[in-house]
Amino acid sequence: MELLAVVFPHLAAVRVERVHRVGATVRVKAATTEPTSECPACGCESARVRSRYERCLSDLPVAGQEVLLQMRVRRFFCDNTACAKRTFAEQIPGLTSRHGPCAAGLPSMLRTVALALGGRPGGRHTARLACAVGRSTLLRLSRSMPDPQVATPRVLGVDEFAWRKGHTYAPPPATG
Ligand SMILES: [Zn+2]
Repeated sequence: MELLAVVFPHLAAVRVERVHRVGATVRVKAATTEPTSECPACGCESARVRSRYERCLSDLPVAGQEVLLQMRVRRFFCDNTACAKRTFAEQIPGLTSRHGPCAAGLPSMLRTVALALGGRPGGRHTARLACAVGRSTLLRLSRSMPDPQVATPRVLGVDEFAWRKGHTYAPPPATG
């Protein structure tokens, strides 16, 4: 179990039940252990489980091998009558998000690939990085990134500097 904590530190909050290899993929079976979960809409804790199901999440590769998390999670009832949500799926902080097909650490790496290479070539590259995802996932991740902050350039070119001082280096008008 010590090895698991070293290789999968982000799984500390869940119970890892099995780690095995299927083909080229390392499959990690895990389940949540908290008795209650917090409704994302109203913040009320609930212990009333409506259903259990399995979520499959791509994770960062380990030793060059693709990793797939098979996470057993629950859907809870929200018992707050003032809340618009009747049920909600539990999330594992730092590991899952509402609709993400990836564990929390993977999107930042995939966004880097998507920004550098774009959708289809990026998809081919992630296959080589042992974290194959489709080009649609890459495109969605790159679209979900905030626009980069445009910083004021600190080093100005000669022309800009002269223009700011009221000079121009334009050639003199042709005579004759
Ligand atoms: Zn609620």
